[in-house]
Amino acid sequence: QDPSAYIKQHIRTVPDWPVAGVQFRDITPLLSNPRVFRVLIDQFVHRYFDTRPAAIAGLDARGFIIGSVLAYELNVGFIPIRKKGKLPFTTVEETYELEYGSATVEMHTDAVQPGDRVVLIDDLIATGGTMLAGARLLQRLGATVIEGAAIVDLPELGGSARLRAAGLPLHTLVDFA
Ligand code: IMP
Repeated sequence: QDPSAYIKQHIRTVPDWPVAGVQFRDITPLLSNPRVFRVLIDQFVHRYFDTRPAAIAGLDARGFIIGSVLAYELNVGFIPIRKKGKLPFTTVEETYELEYGSATVEMHTDAVQPGDRVVLIDDLIATGGTMLAGARLLQRLGATVIEGAAIVDLPELGGSARLRAAGLPLHTLVDFA
């Protein structure tokens, strides 16, 4: 069976969560089933094995789950990009607009060295704002973002097009129209 179809079958759609009208794509069934979890991680391992990134950066919080396992498998370091207020050392931050209000993400200033080639990962691309903010943090510290990666793209929300227009290549496994 096609791995993407197999992965897609195990994503749960929860209607009207967190607010009415939203169809939330819940990836937790991918994590609780060890066969699907392995297929999922292997998709990213195969994609980046020959790329030899300096590190994997993961976005808070589901990007930590898949990103840390991917980093372990590739034998490279893992960098957490966190919601504001969680990291103890010196940080850089980026604020981006949400539908209502704004959000801020942070990264430690010593997490990358200038010239490092990094893959940035999260579970899902909606408007692309979170991924773009994470990429900016890495770029501000002199790193090169080889590619953004996610399990799910919601193309109708325009995020993947926005990221590509901003010059960030993107690799996703599953689309929900
Ligand atoms: P964006 O910044 O609008 O692209 O939203 C993506 C961020 O919001 C990611 O960190 C996702 O984890 C989270 N997110 C938004 N919608 C969903 C969803 O339907 N399922 C899971 N995560 C979501």
